[in-house]
Amino acid sequence: MAPASVIDEVDAANVRRHVETIVTEIPHRAAGSENGKRMAEYSAAAMREVGVADTHVHELPAIVSFPEHADFAVTAPTQISIQANTLGHSTLTMPEGIGGDLVYVGSGAFADYEGKDVRGKIILTELSYSPARHEKQRIAALKGAIGCVMMNWGHPENEAVPFGSVKPAWGTPTPDTYDTEMATLPCIGISRAAGLKLKDMCAEGTVRVWLKTHVENGWRPVQITVGEIALDASPEPGDFVLVGGHQDSWPGEAATDNAAGNACMIELARVFNQHRAELRRGLVFGFWTAHETGTMAGSSWFADRNWDKLRDHAVTYFQIDQPGCVGTTRWATSSNAELKSFHDRIEKNLLGGRENYWKRAAKSGDSSFFGLGIPMFHGEGSFTEQELKDTALATLGWWHHSIENKLDKLDWDWMQVHLRIYAAYLWELCTAPVLPFAYRPVADQILARLNELAAAGAPVGLGSVVEQAETFAEAADRLDALAETWRAKFADGAGDEDAARTLNAAFKKLSHMLVTLQSSAKGTYGQDTYGFTPQTTMIPCLFDIPQLATLPDGEARWMLETKLVRDRNRVADTIADALAVIGDTERTLA
Ligand SMILES: [Zn+2]
Repeated sequence: MAPASVIDEVDAANVRRHVETIVTEIPHRAAGSENGKRMAEYSAAAMREVGVADTHVHELPAIVSFPEHADFAVTAPTQISIQANTLGHSTLTMPEGIGGDLVYVGSGAFADYEGKDVRGKIILTELSYSPARHEKQRIAALKGAIGCVMMNWGHPENEAVPFGSVKPAWGTPTPDTYDTEMATLPCIGISRAAGLKLKDMCAEGTVRVWLKTHVENGWRPVQITVGEIALDASPEPGDFVLVGGHQDSWPGEAATDNAAGNACMIELARVFNQHRAELRRGLVFGFWTAHETGTMAGSSWFADRNWDKLRDHAVTYFQIDQPGCVGTTRWATSSNAELKSFHDRIEKNLLGGRENYWKRAAKSGDSSFFGLGIPMFHGEGSFTEQELKDTALATLGWWHHSIENKLDKLDWDWMQVHLRIYAAYLWELCTAPVLPFAYRPVADQILARLNELAAAGAPVGLGSVVEQAETFAEAADRLDALAETWRAKFADGAGDEDAARTLNAAFKKLSHMLVTLQSSAKGTYGQDTYGFTPQTTMIPCLFDIPQLATLPDGEARWMLETKLVRDRNRVADTIADALAVIGDTERTLA
């Protein structure tokens, strides 16, 4: 069966039917609520209805937050009361609330605090996900602030009061992360219109504010739904593609976020299940939960509790969260670089001339699989640069995380394009004898970052790692060429299953090492916190290297050097191991 068939069989009308049912019958699908559970059961019933009999709802304990409105007022130079929502996982204020001077800190990244003293004060920041809310809270606390006010994005006149969370720990906390990573500040969200007014007032003189939060944070049973299309026979038994997206939501319809993604997963499952006999790799669909008001407890629980199977058999993680948003006109995909050439080719084929662009996959959404080293990608419609500029970087629409997120925010023709692209992605991943991965782009990213850090990293021995990375780039070229040769042979009907298995096993091993190196500061068995600043750069464990140049000889420097030498060793080992995998593969296929 040609790939054209799955691409033509997926139908946005089915997606629309599911979305309409979900938003009217199960609004506000909060994790740990009755509707959260009903949504998990809806996904399970829908998956069984499209033929995926092996579908189960799993219940787990999770820390979830039930934030309500917040009381918020300007107390000087004039009295103004402002509508606000408490953010999920915010701390509770004392009954009398807290008061303090307000300091505007832009996006709330480390650099935004330069020259500002926020100790004992309340910060005012912008929503833009650079960094995410969770990281803004963490940084504000490190800087000594006592509370956070986060204004929405969108056009300057946007009155939508946003929901949001400041959940630094990722996954159900451990004894360690519970002590060190949970939010420590009261945090609230306000509209963009109100926030800009406050920003102007701060520019004119001292502004004093008062706020009081209302929130319940606690343990609840939450539910994820997992459906599997397992194959009866395959040259690579048990291998599969993981497809996931969260099914919990904020109050209201939350049509784009993420009823739309859930419905796409059901539609893809329907079509691929009908073609299961033609697949080489199966599919596992994960409808996660405790994402919006939890701590990504669903996807990280799934990673922890299915570790061996994921490690041995998952080839890729494809995330669907907020597809088909109205007003988006170009295509953005974030991915681990080994997937870049594969998805770019499909996008160019199916976008009919619309622009597509690429971003490095960072930890957001439900990217709980970096520790396992499963390469991930996430692609969907995106606003133009000009629109983003005009809306203070409202990458997910001005209505995002507000009760304005309704059915009218979905574009069904555009959804059809999304579905066709998703079907093409999955078809190739599920049927290609040789996985469509390429490692030179990974090597280029590693090399670029190491070169950037080389001078500052000289005291910890980074120089020899740069040389090693150059050798790795050459080896990656040879591996990519070898894989291409075998793809051509398969295309000519002259493939060899042993060769395909050898190459695919090598790819899995390489990604296990390199995805973790590229994307996780904590490494294999930890989860970096949401939006954690170091993981916004390649090889996050080396993030602090530039600091070395700023520290004189002394205690602080000696300690940081010790840490960074160990991280340097981690990078060196990983590249050496990756080189060994490529060498073995070349010898086997010689
Ligand atoms: Zn979402």
